[in-house]
Amino acid sequence: MDLKNRRALVTGASSGIGAATVRALRDAGARVAAGARRTGRLDGDLNLALDVTDEASIRTAVAAAAKEFGGLDLVVNAAGIMPLGPVLGADVTTWRHALDTNLLGLMLVTHAALPHLAEAGGGDVVTISSVGGRETFAGAAAYNATKFGVCAFSDAFRKEISDRGIRVSVVEPGYTATELPASIGDPAIRDGVEGVMAGQRNLDSEDVAASILHVVSRPAHVVVNELQVRPLSQI
Ligand code: NDP
Repeated sequence: MDLKNRRALVTGASSGIGAATVRALRDAGARVAAGARRTGRLDGDLNLALDVTDEASIRTAVAAAAKEFGGLDLVVNAAGIMPLGPVLGADVTTWRHALDTNLLGLMLVTHAALPHLAEAGGGDVVTISSVGGRETFAGAAAYNATKFGVCAFSDAFRKEISDRGIRVSVVEPGYTATELPASIGDPAIRDGVEGVMAGQRNLDSEDVAASILHVVSRPAHVVVNELQVRPLSQI
């Protein structure tokens, strides 16, 4: 796969799916700006401090990537958190943080990057949603709300921007072996998720990164609206 001449920004690039995507894009020849808060873990051609809950941080990072590469034509929104827990008794500050991180964050990154993609005459915006963006689960109401929101934003945005040569794609992974499950705050739900994952062959981050590469390497007249990729045991 040859992605040389592509100029990419990957959010959530310090771990898991984002980090694997940085490696895969670079291996395919793209120049990649990697963004996250834990900058010491970034391995892009350009490493950027980026907090997607902070609009100024987003605009600074996008501008730096575009300046370094002389433009941008590929954005991968991989930053995300998984705040699981019941609605009854929930600490609603976790909901605001989830919406800021998983939904508003990628909307603002996309907004900041869009003029560069338009100037390039086209490009890709690939956002990592989840199986939880198409199916709901008890204990996942806030997470489901953010990920269904990702699909809605992306669907509508695709319809208004496709005539600019800009492709909007959503990749929806199932269980993927990353640091994310360990970050679930509710102990019972965390134990449940970790128990399921311990008993099956999960996706690796590289499996999801390969799906992202598939999406962005289609011929220019082809758009993959959505790609749901699951472990075979999670059908
Ligand atoms: P990881 O926890 O391994 O990675 C999450 C990434 O998001 C880290 O790089 C982290 O960087 C970044 N991030 C979190 N908050 C912020 C923030 N405020 N600003 C910038 N970056 C942030 O998880 P995954 O790789 O598994 O998750 C990536 C995406 O995949 C998420 O959107 C998740 O919802 C989705 N997903 C994951 C699944 C799974 O089973 N693992 C299944 C379905 C979807 P840092 O902390 O350094 O800022």
